[in-house]
Amino acid sequence: MATLPGPPAQPDRIGDGAQAAEDHTDAVLLLSGGLDSTALAALFRPALCLAIDYGQRSAAGEIRAATAICRALDLVMKTLTLDLGGIGGGLLKNEDAIPGAPSPEWWPYRNQILATAAASIALQAGLPQVLTGTVAGDGARHIDGRPAFYQALDRLIGMQEGGIRVCAPAIRETSAELVRRSGLTEDVLGWTVSCHRANFPCGDCPGCRKRSQVLSELGILSGRRP
Ligand SMILES: [Zn+2]
Repeated sequence: MATLPGPPAQPDRIGDGAQAAEDHTDAVLLLSGGLDSTALAALFRPALCLAIDYGQRSAAGEIRAATAICRALDLVMKTLTLDLGGIGGGLLKNEDAIPGAPSPEWWPYRNQILATAAASIALQAGLPQVLTGTVAGDGARHIDGRPAFYQALDRLIGMQEGGIRVCAPAIRETSAELVRRSGLTEDVLGWTVSCHRANFPCGDCPGCRKRSQVLSELGILSGRRP
């Protein structure tokens, strides 16, 4: 297994993927089965992809997608179950938004908890880094999608035993830019799902709409892909 060249970069400076080792990057990738984390899987070829069932309604669909994506990309995948249903809310749990929610799908502190769980898995697997598929638009909807959040989380986790780093390498890119750069082929993109409501795409939630918008932007849904 390859090692990272020197100390891991800050979350927004990990690079463009070109530094990823020929075989695998020594990292755990949080893989939801959506476009963004799937693009990172193709770009960085992490040593381990982690799909988490944290009680979201779309958990089975996400794990089914992640399994197919890892099989297609020849990557190792692990699943983890964390019951966060007691603290969740919004579209990912039911139709009721939590008071003060900045967006319909907001699940309080979810990204912090999932990245921390992935760091724990990374520590046990002897991997020095966690990658998350956050992209530029995520920060407009909630604080835990912003560069400052991941820089703070990287410091917090990195100061603990093991010194695991947390990186969001595409946090300044749009989904379309990331997917285009990843070189993902349509046979892999076809496995991706982003639905917040169900295990099969509802077609009408923010996740489904964003996925359709990105694929349209890339000319895939219209058959105009350059
Ligand atoms: Zn949906």
